[in-house]
Amino acid sequence: MRGGDDRSTGAGGRVPDASVIDAAILDARATIDARRQDWTDLLQELIRIPSRFGAEHAIVRRVCEYVTALGLVPDLVPMDEELLRGHAHAAKPISSVADRNNVVVRVRGRGGGRSLILNCHLDIQPEGDSTQWTHPPFSGHIDRKTNVIFGRGAMDDKAGVAICLGLIRVIAEKGLQFDGDLIFQFVLEDEITGNGSLACLEAGHVADAAIILDGTRPDRAIDQHAGNMEFQIRLKGRAASVSVSHLGANAAEMLSRTVLHLREVIHRLNESREPPWTEFPSPYQFVIHGMQADAPRFSVPVDASARCFVTFAPPTTIAQMRSFLEDESRRHAQASQYPHLPTFDWDGFATEAVACASEDLRALVRATAKRNGIPDARIGPSTGTSDMRHFAMRGIPCLLFGPGRGFNPHRPDEHFLLDDLSFMMKVYLDMIVAWCSQRKSPNEGLEIVQR
Ligand SMILES: [Zn+2]
Repeated sequence: MRGGDDRSTGAGGRVPDASVIDAAILDARATIDARRQDWTDLLQELIRIPSRFGAEHAIVRRVCEYVTALGLVPDLVPMDEELLRGHAHAAKPISSVADRNNVVVRVRGRGGGRSLILNCHLDIQPEGDSTQWTHPPFSGHIDRKTNVIFGRGAMDDKAGVAICLGLIRVIAEKGLQFDGDLIFQFVLEDEITGNGSLACLEAGHVADAAIILDGTRPDRAIDQHAGNMEFQIRLKGRAASVSVSHLGANAAEMLSRTVLHLREVIHRLNESREPPWTEFPSPYQFVIHGMQADAPRFSVPVDASARCFVTFAPPTTIAQMRSFLEDESRRHAQASQYPHLPTFDWDGFATEAVACASEDLRALVRATAKRNGIPDARIGPSTGTSDMRHFAMRGIPCLLFGPGRGFNPHRPDEHFLLDDLSFMMKVYLDMIVAWCSQRKSPNEGLEIVQR
């Protein structure tokens, strides 16, 4: 990076010495602290824009306005329906809503350093039943005593968005430049398909590493995910009148027993989990999302279906999980003498377990966290999922870190500790300097490049 005094001349030019770099960064850090109120106001404003799936236009406009006002040109990456429908790694549903864009902001480096992506997401998980919230989900209510902000997306992931925008502002206003390119990705659909990050990478916004600001507190990073899979199971019964229901086979009852059986055998797989997955009691999860069966008033239902979700630890694969579920449900149906075997629909969301962080990237997180007062950041697995798989597919080292201390994501009363906005901005700035100042060649050592 460089400070306001223009001593660098782009690729091959002179690089400021370490003391100039330090002075510029110290100045930027002081500015981050001095502007705490701005970051709070920004996060509150972002929470007040309900950016649900398919209705992200307002927040995209706001991000573009913010960046444009700083003299930068945001790059819009469309959620191209046709491209996504034809893409093997795109997940459903593919939205037909027009004019939906991801936003990418590139801070060009002077050349010679490694590039870095900071990725955050603009969409939110639906707020659910708003009567369950202490403060309305889109109020951005602030508790002054604890300096906590409430609202859907407060942690997941509007805090990440506010931090990225704040960093862009400080970098632009201070005229900071790094050796490698810095790429900010503001993506859609992290909470539903992951297609936003996919679209950005397809559009060529790649880098030597990526940090996803999502899902962790400052003392924790996620470097691998369990596999995740959604599916439908159907079961047919045998018709009978309710007055002689014992002569029929009630599909609703049989399917209920079947899915509870599957739940039990999946949970039993937890006994076989291997490190690092032993840090969780149950990386193998089975959740019944929904069940459907119906019948006319005096008949038993003959058709039932359930929508379920499983997570699974490596080395288990999607294919193994599918055959395990098929075998187990068949065995159960035969042992229970059901008239028909269950059938499966595997068309839902499915992702293999993924891990793609490099040792360099892990070391970067540990070192920068430590320099900022977090001595033992823990880097490990998560049973959740993220857009990491798309980075893995392209061989881009990636992990999840930040956006800071937040609680209750995907639940009522989601909230975020406002102190962490400026704190994490300083950590990321540190990380950017350390990463982007290194040459691409692995033999160049870990010093800031000096020529
Ligand atoms: Zn998230």
